[in-house]
Amino acid sequence: MGGQAVASASGRFGDVFDPNVGRVQARVGLGTADELNRAVEVAAAAQPAWAAINPQRRARVMFAFKQLVEAEMDSLARLLASEHGKVVSDARGDIQRGLDVVEFACGIPHLLKGEYTEGAGPGIDVYSMRQPIGIGAGITPFNFPAMIPLWMSAVAIATGNAFILKPSERDPSVPVRLGELFQAAGLPDGIFQVVHGDKEMVDAILDHPAIGAVSFVGSSDIAQYVYSRGVAAGKRVQAMGGAKNHGIVMPDADLDQTVADLCGAAFGSAGERCMALPVVVPVGAETAERLKAKLIPAIGALRLGVSTDADAHYGPVVTAEHKARIERWIQTGVEEGAELVVDGRGFTLQGHENGFFVGPSLFDHVTPDMSSYREEIFGPVLQIVRASSFEEALALPSRHQYGNGVAIFTRNGDAAREFAQRVNVGMVGINVPIPVPVAYHSFGGWKRSAFGDHNQHGMEGVHFWTKVKTITQRWPDHMLAERGAEDGGPSRNMGSFVIPTMS
Ligand code: NAD
Repeated sequence: MGGQAVASASGRFGDVFDPNVGRVQARVGLGTADELNRAVEVAAAAQPAWAAINPQRRARVMFAFKQLVEAEMDSLARLLASEHGKVVSDARGDIQRGLDVVEFACGIPHLLKGEYTEGAGPGIDVYSMRQPIGIGAGITPFNFPAMIPLWMSAVAIATGNAFILKPSERDPSVPVRLGELFQAAGLPDGIFQVVHGDKEMVDAILDHPAIGAVSFVGSSDIAQYVYSRGVAAGKRVQAMGGAKNHGIVMPDADLDQTVADLCGAAFGSAGERCMALPVVVPVGAETAERLKAKLIPAIGALRLGVSTDADAHYGPVVTAEHKARIERWIQTGVEEGAELVVDGRGFTLQGHENGFFVGPSLFDHVTPDMSSYREEIFGPVLQIVRASSFEEALALPSRHQYGNGVAIFTRNGDAAREFAQRVNVGMVGINVPIPVPVAYHSFGGWKRSAFGDHNQHGMEGVHFWTKVKTITQRWPDHMLAERGAEDGGPSRNMGSFVIPTMS
């Protein structure tokens, strides 16, 4: 807060585990509304001067920050992996995807240019400008502790806002280090602050009258709650929620490549990605049988390991509680009548028996009425839902409550194009299993995967973090007044009691 490390006085703490060994490695103080008030005061004092700096100089701070993060990539990735459990190579990707947005924000002078119309009426020009909201807040999930805070903060800060981050209490260390690096890059104190906490802190953010915009990413019920409460308090809110992404496999797909893609997308990061592919929909019984025959050995060859094991495909899940939840969903799937082809429950890693590891699971004959299909499991579980036709396959993700991402695997351009146009989902991959848009495009799902209007980063992010002001100007000089008097146009003395029109 304000460039200082400040201990919370709440006396409440959250445990931060090392999921590889299943032990508490740190505790995080859970902050209070009073502590948030102090952070907001600091932000309010710092923000006007930051917004007044020209955008090129703000971009230079972003550029310096990017270089500092790059120089620390390895140690940051190890810190991230030690609290989250993802393997270090994947943690690097987490940081890099965030840095991509920082790079995008380095172009902010170009992105903030307004629009201009000369001669919108006699002697009248109209122009618009984008101004920062003022103070914005981000509330982020555990699964991308670098990327998601950077999605929000890079654009919020580059556009001239002060930004307060409330990261997940399960892996809060990387966000704090990012704050230190922002400071080292020359960002004025108070422009990027981190407050820790749980629901109490989130509610304080949502209710604080000086916070004008809130960006949230997490599970759907909380996203909806954050959206409703924030909007009721008069804020601009974008709230990204959960997901259940489908991969449609057409009969003509390159099956070996598809199986490799599915394994990475379903089991990478232990399935703890909102763009994971936990549902695969083969079209036609023959495709289903061929796919299943290839998936079983591929899943059998997956290697679990600790985060620092360079050969591991994936590591432990984030907490013991989450491990138990995933295993309960597997049991529910069995009870609902799905066929459990590979059972990942009860997995232990030798030498790390207390780590939160969950082996990969594969279900076949999953059907849309099953709760294990309707709900997000967020673990290393792949479900096969068989479809007999393209139309049936298209309807599955289109009707699902979540609409984050979807992929189709095919060699047929017609099928791919039709699928992309008709599917009721926000982000589509064509032979791309994890279609996370690049930083200069925008990230966001549909239906219960996102509440609010603007997506993350890209121009959508710039629009979310700024307000448009439109200026209509006339400079009624002497000549204009004379000419106006002759041709019936505007004159210095003219007033009007009707709504002005340009006709
Ligand atoms: P979560 O919803 O439990 O937590 C997200 C944030 O909300 C955290 O900062 C947490 O402290 C806060 N929070 C938790 N409970 C709260 C409550 N009752 N009231 C107010 N705030 C509360 O999510 P998670 O487990 O950290 O992350 C996983 C979820 O995030 C999954 O559902 C995943 O799909 C989703 N996710 C979505 C996207 C996306 O862009 N759509 C990206 C990543 C993750």
